[in-house]
Amino acid sequence: MMIKLYNTLTKKKQPFKPLKDKVVGLYACGPTVYRAAHIGNLSIYIFEDILRRTLEFNGYKVNHIMNITDVGHLTSDADTGQDKVEQAAKEAGKTASEITQHFADLFVKDLKRLNIELPQKFAWASKYIKEQIELIKRLEKKGYTYKTNDGIYFDTDKFKEYGVLGGAGAGKARVKHSRGKKRETDFALWKFSRVGEKRQQEWPSPWGVGYPGWHVECSAISAAELGQPFDIHAGGEDHIAIHHNNEIAQSQAAYGKPLAKFWIHGAFTLVNRAKMAKSRGNAIVLDDIIAEGFDPLAFRYLVVASHYRRKLNFSAAAMKNASRSLEKLRSVFSVRAKGGRVCQKYKRSFLAAINNDLNMSKAFEVVWSLVRTPAKTLADKQATLLDFDQVLGLDLKNYSVVIPAEVKKLVAKREIARKKKDFRLADKLRRDILNKGFAVEDTAEGSKITKK
Ligand SMILES: [Zn+2]
Repeated sequence: MMIKLYNTLTKKKQPFKPLKDKVVGLYACGPTVYRAAHIGNLSIYIFEDILRRTLEFNGYKVNHIMNITDVGHLTSDADTGQDKVEQAAKEAGKTASEITQHFADLFVKDLKRLNIELPQKFAWASKYIKEQIELIKRLEKKGYTYKTNDGIYFDTDKFKEYGVLGGAGAGKARVKHSRGKKRETDFALWKFSRVGEKRQQEWPSPWGVGYPGWHVECSAISAAELGQPFDIHAGGEDHIAIHHNNEIAQSQAAYGKPLAKFWIHGAFTLVNRAKMAKSRGNAIVLDDIIAEGFDPLAFRYLVVASHYRRKLNFSAAAMKNASRSLEKLRSVFSVRAKGGRVCQKYKRSFLAAINNDLNMSKAFEVVWSLVRTPAKTLADKQATLLDFDQVLGLDLKNYSVVIPAEVKKLVAKREIARKKKDFRLADKLRRDILNKGFAVEDTAEGSKITKK
């Protein structure tokens, strides 16, 4: 079945076909590991996971590469300010590598808690210094660079297609603190270590000791790992205006061919309708959600069920709803039925929904109509939902309701009472079970227990 995806490059939904037969090259911009990723960042990785799983569900193998930024990401997009990692290390009294290892580990832990398939490779920026220097040398040879007091810059005036992804107007809004930069959209390829300052992370280069500019790593790593062009470049919409326009400028200027065929972007997450940012004090991390008593997969449900191009509004009420829906879906598995078969009619509708630019709200309509239909057996419903869960990633396979021993005892007593047709006792026991926070339902397969 044909997959259609919205391409930011063409502003259109287009049929997707990989460049190489059955393998899809997918590059996703990764985190800067100097603090915990907030749920707005994590929602982008969930969207990319749905994209990857959809491709896999269609029979493709996905070669998924993600960079880890451990050097060169400055506190300001205008190529000024401090290196975020060096600054965090200084504040914590730790080494840069202690900081980056700690937050990279936490990042992977978050991905696992959200049941996100890990990339085939995490590519750390500091491990690709040679490739980044090579790329800058190539750009220099072709006349796309110039030197200032503090580094080597890309001359966006020389690259006629600059800003092709759109949003480049946002570049104009950048701080006009240029320190010898010719125009606001120009960006650093290599920054010199400041005189008298000893950085923890710096390398020799043909231009002087320093470190790569933030945008260079994605161009150098994707070319090294996936070649150029590759199939899909994914990321958050906040990267379109500057970071991704800059990646395109570097890569296309250096190699004279496109960087990626498809550019796919996930929308921001809002918190109570406001943009989430650490500077606003409304950044929420996954541990905050868990501390509130939520299952991380309830957050996954919330993200998956909304469309990736629509801004997700995060709130306590939205989390509660998602949590309730997830419980309802899990309750289908509170009694395990054997020997079911995937319902093909439902599968076709599900596939049509996800293949239409990851229309997950439509896909969930299929899920819920399957759950509610009286026309299918429990076994068939379970088999079909487990099939869909390869995309949804809600871990339904490993889920079972944890029922405390005292509740199990009450359920067993109630079954005996029902067999003896002592319905008054059975009703009393049902109320006792309810008081312990569980609901019991009588099905052909036995008593079905769900959390209230
Ligand atoms: Zn990137």
